[in-house]
Amino acid sequence: MTDSHEKMIIIGAGAAGYTAAIYAARANLSPVVLAGLQPGGQLTITTDVENYPGFADVVQGPWLMQEMQQQAEKVGSRIIYDIATSINTELNPMQVILDSGEIMTTDTIIIATGAQARWLGIESETIYNGRGVSACATCDGFFFRERDVVVIGGGNTAVEEALYLSNLCNSVTLIHRRDTLRAEQILQDRLFKQANICVEWNYNVTKILGSDSGVNGVCLTSTKDGSQKEISTQGVFVAIGHDPATKPFKNILDLDEEGYILVKAGTTLTSKKGVFAAGDCVDKIYRQAVTAAGMGCMAALDAEKYLASIGD
Ligand code: NAP
Repeated sequence: MTDSHEKMIIIGAGAAGYTAAIYAARANLSPVVLAGLQPGGQLTITTDVENYPGFADVVQGPWLMQEMQQQAEKVGSRIIYDIATSINTELNPMQVILDSGEIMTTDTIIIATGAQARWLGIESETIYNGRGVSACATCDGFFFRERDVVVIGGGNTAVEEALYLSNLCNSVTLIHRRDTLRAEQILQDRLFKQANICVEWNYNVTKILGSDSGVNGVCLTSTKDGSQKEISTQGVFVAIGHDPATKPFKNILDLDEEGYILVKAGTTLTSKKGVFAAGDCVDKIYRQAVTAAGMGCMAALDAEKYLASIGD
C-alpha cells in the first residue's frame, strides 16, 4: 500500500543527508529524511571535531550532528526514524520501501547512506576506540603531534594516512599483513622516501595494549610463522578499507566493483533519472564531513533542477 507521496526523500541522516535537507527545505521541497540505523552518521562515533569550518573551538561530533538535524527541521524537513530497505525506480512515481512495511512514493530520491570504516574486530580495538584508536588520520592525526603512531593496512588509504601522519608525528610504522602493498606505485615511492616512516611486513595486529590514559603499544603476530612481538605506540590508525552502505541499491543503480554509487562526473546524478547520491556512499577518496556536506548541497540543487525540468 502506498501511504504518502513526497517531492523528495533523502535516505541517510549524516552530513550529506542533513545538508541536502537544509537546501531542499529552503527551496520549498518539504524533504523527508529517513534517518536509518545510525542517525547522524559517522560523526556520532567521533569525539573532538576540529576541522569542520565555522567553529574556532573544538566541537563534539554528536553535538555537530544534532545541530545539523535541528537546522534541517527548523527550515522545514521532516525526519522519519525508519530504514529504507529498497527503492523502485521503474514505477512513476518512484517508491521507497521502508523496514516498517510502509511504502512511500516520491518524485526524487537523494541517497546519502554513507560508509563504515572496517575494523580489525579485536576486543582491545573497541576498548581504546577514541582513546588512541582511530580510523581517520585527517580527523584525529593532529591529536598525535610529536608522538609515535602505527597505521594498519596496505592500500591507498593506509599509505596516504601514513604520509599525512608523517608530517605531524615523530614516527609512523605501517603494519601490513603481506610483503607487498596494494597502494598505487606513486604513493609507495613517496612512502619509502619518507625518513620517519618504517614498514613492518607480514604482521597482523592481534592486540592493542594500553592503560587508563590510552594506547601505549600493539602486539604483532607474524603471518609467516606465528611469532609475536610488541612495539610501543601512542596511536593506532586502522586503514583497512570502508564499506559503503549501498546494499539496498545493488542491481538498481550502477555501482562500482566495491559498491560505491557511480555518479556523472562533477554532479550527483546516478544512473537512474530522479535519483541522486552524495557523501561517502559515492566518495571513496576524500571522506570528510565537509566534503559530504558539500555533495549534499549539490544533490539538493541537482534534484531541484530536475524537478523544475519535469514540471516544465
Ligand atoms: P583497500 O584498497 O581495500 O585496502 C585495504 C588494505 O587493508 C589492504 O592492503 C588489505 O590487505 C588490508 N586489510 C584488509 N582487511 C584487513 C584485516 N582484517 N587486517 C589487516 N589488514 C587488512 O582499501 P582502501 O585503501 O581504503 O581503498 C579503497 C578504495 O579507495 C580503493 O579503490 C582505493 O584505490 C581507493 N582510494 C583511492 C585514493 C586515491 O586515489 N587517492 C585514496 C584512498 C582510497 P591485503 O592487501 O592483504 O588485502
